[in-house]
Formats: sequence, C-alpha cells, structure tokens
Amino acid sequence: LSDRLSGVFDRLTKQGALSEDDVKTALREVRVALLEADVSLPVARDFVKAVQEKATGQAVTKSVTPGQQVVKIVHDELKHVLEGDGEPGALKIDNPPAPILMVGLQGSGKTTTTGKLAKRLTEKEGKRVLMASLDIYRPAAMDQLAVLGMQIGVDTLPIVKGESAVQIAKRAKTQASLGGYDVVLLDTAGRLQIDQTLMQEVEDVRDAVQPRETLLVVDGLTGQVAVEVAEEFDGKIGISGVVLTRMDGDGRGGAALSMRAVTGKPIKFVGAGEKMDALETFEPDRIAGRILGMGDIVALVEKAQDTIEAEQAEKMMRRFQKGQFNMNDLKGQLEQMLKMGGMEGMMSMMPGMGKMAKEVEKAGFDDRVLKQQIAMIQSMTKKERAAPQILQASRKKRIAAGSGMEVSDLNKLLKMHRQMADMMKKMGKGGMMKKAMAAMM
Ligand code: GDP
Ligand code: MG
Repeated sequence: LSDRLSGVFDRLTKQGALSEDDVKTALREVRVALLEADVSLPVARDFVKAVQEKATGQAVTKSVTPGQQVVKIVHDELKHVLEGDGEPGALKIDNPPAPILMVGLQGSGKTTTTGKLAKRLTEKEGKRVLMASLDIYRPAAMDQLAVLGMQIGVDTLPIVKGESAVQIAKRAKTQASLGGYDVVLLDTAGRLQIDQTLMQEVEDVRDAVQPRETLLVVDGLTGQVAVEVAEEFDGKIGISGVVLTRMDGDGRGGAALSMRAVTGKPIKFVGAGEKMDALETFEPDRIAGRILGMGDIVALVEKAQDTIEAEQAEKMMRRFQKGQFNMNDLKGQLEQMLKMGGMEGMMSMMPGMGKMAKEVEKAGFDDRVLKQQIAMIQSMTKKERAAPQILQASRKKRIAAGSGMEVSDLNKLLKMHRQMADMMKKMGKGGMMKKAMAAMM
C-alpha cells in the first residue's frame, strides 16, 4: 500500500495540477452524493459538468489528494451557486403596506411559514404585520392562520364568508393601509398538485395587489417535484424568492441547489421545525456542506491550505528579517493593502505604526496611488525587482513613462521600499515582526 501511496504522491508532486482524469473520477462520487441529497438529475448533471471544466488544471494543495482537492472545489462552487446576490433574509418591504404573497403546493408549509415570517418581522424588525388567508376552499386553513396569529400576537384579517381570493387580498391591502401596517402577508391556497385553476387564481391575486415579494414555499425534502413546482410558479407567477421548509429533518436539502439552478432566485429563508421561531436566514455555506455530505474532506483541504499559507508567511518573514525585502514583496504588500482597505487601514493594524499611518494619510495615499505603484513595479524587469538599486536614470524614465507616471513618483516608491526594508529588518531584530506579519495576513 505504501508503495502505491508514494506512487500517487510522486505523480502529484510532478503534476501539481488536476488532470481531466483526476477530476472525472472524483466527480463521479460527487454526482452520486448530489443525487443522494435529492438534487434533481438534470441539475446535478449540469452542475458536475460546469465544475469539471473549472476544476481541470487547477493546482492541487500539497498533502491532499486530487480527489480531495476536487471535493473542495465542488464545495466552493456549490456555495457560490447557492449564494446568489443580495443579502439573504432581506425582503423588499419599504413603501408600506408592502404585500408579500406566499405561494406553493398544499402541505409545503405556507401557512406555518407565514406565521413564522410575521413573528420575525414583528419581533426582529419592529414591523406592524397583518396576515390574511386566501384559502377559500378549506375553512380550517383560515382558522389555522387565525390561531397562529393569536399565538404570536400578530393581527389577522377578519374572515368574511363568500369572498373570492382576489376580494380577500384587496380587502387585506386596504385594511393594511387604513390600519397603518407595514407589511401584509397573503397566505394563498395550495393544491396537492399544480393545477391551472389554482395558478389562475394566484395570478389574479398578484395582479390585484402587486406584491413586493412573492415567496415560493417548497418542501426541502422533495427532489424532482420541487423542480417542477419552481418552474411552474416562477414561469407563471414570477417569484422573487424561495423558502425551503422541513430542513430540520434528515434530508440533505438538495432542493436548494435545484431551486437556484431552475429559478435563479435567491433562497431567503429555511424552515427548521414546526414552531413559530423555527425560521432561519439561509446560509449557503452550511447548506453546501449538507448537500455534499463531505464536510470532513472539505475541512481537511482547508486545513492543508491554511498550513501552506502559514508556511509561506513564515518563509517570507525569515527573508524579511534578513533584509531581503524586494520589489516583488512590496508589490505583494501593496496588493494586500488594496484588498484590506488601503494603506491606512493596514498600518493602523500594525503595532507601532500609528504615526506612519498618519503621515501616509497626509501624503494622500489612496487606492489610486496604490494601483499606480503596483503598475510601476510591474514595469520593472525581474532583475530590477529583485535589486532595485541597479536602476539607472534612463531605466527610471522608461519605467515611469511605461506606467504613466513621473520619475519623481518612482523615486518616492523606491524610497518607500528602502524604508520598509529597513523597518522590516529592525522589527525582525526586535521580535516585532511576528506580530506585524500576523496583522498583515
Ligand atoms: P400549507 O398547506 O402549505 O399551508 O402547509 P402548513 O403550513 O399547513 O404545513 C403543513 C405541515 O408541515 C404542518 O404540520 C407544519 O407544522 C409542518 N411544517 C411546516 N414547516 C415545517 C418545517 O420547517 N419543519 C417541520 N418539521 N415541519 C414543518
Ligand atoms: Mg395553508
């Protein structure tokens, strides 16, 4: 076995990048995992294909296998697809009263979610909420919402017998206006299967009240059905977001990926129980881990990556201590600064550099300057970057011109580099380097 293993590592150190075969082999298992998590077949197929293209050729982190690396890539991509844009859990409820339409199949958890959402908006966001049941087919459904309302202390629209769904919806909106409510939650009737009468009714309600949000409530334990429901509702009604219910169960929640793939709409909330406080903001990272069910591998690769980053930082630190801080290092630092909100932000994090941060502020450092400095370093040759002291006047002119700057700007940059190199050396002797580096990483 150890022979075989060392063979694998041999190949790895030589390759360093994921081959098409590595990726294919690993993705076969990923595909099974997705299907086991109830991701719909076409969605799983498309997802795997997209990852296949992305993963091939990517670098393999030292001390992990290609298969493990692929799992990590899959996890990150899964998270990315689940994320969507916008803030999870946020609803468009400005302009009161904002109607929110709850749609979905019967038994998916619409009424329960309506109550949960009302409670959340009331308690967490201080909104005044009115709930109304549009389920004219089952009187028990209307009572169910009224009972929930009493339980959580949220008003429900009084029931008037004989009204149509559209009439109730309009009355709810008017009542909400008059009563000074911020949000009016409309709990529609569901059917066990999609049918055209139901769809038409929901469309009519939509046209009558012009909801700010139309949330599709989907049972997270269903697979292929969830996809059909989403296609139908999004196609006909146009949904603005999804709530996945029953995520407290054993299901792995593959419906989440299917929903994103089919509708492209954000998943806003997750229902995790029958109680009124069991509504959570959707967390892509968590659901990605759950769908894939390979959390231990993902954690392993992350740890390996962290270790390597730490090793690289350590190596860099030792070089800096010896005064080997070249222009490439400076470029790396400048790029890091750009990422971290500019020079000031970074310097204020480094011990003993508060004063320098102030000077930097005075000198007018901002992102634009950082980018210009990076551009100047990029105009240097490899040799020049390693030993900037070799730069002659003519080369300085060329570099400055090449990056659209003046020689004086370049001289400033070179001076800064010398100062930083000196400082690094001093700090290295004083043992301050570790702290400073930790702050920079
Ligand atoms: P509706 O027909 O779409 O209005 O569905 P309901 O809101 O009446 O819910 C149907 C059943 O599912 C009820 O027994 C709820 O308590 C239950 N339910 C709803 N959401 C969840 C959830 O997130 N987790 C669990 N375990 N049960 C839920
Ligand atoms: Mg209901």
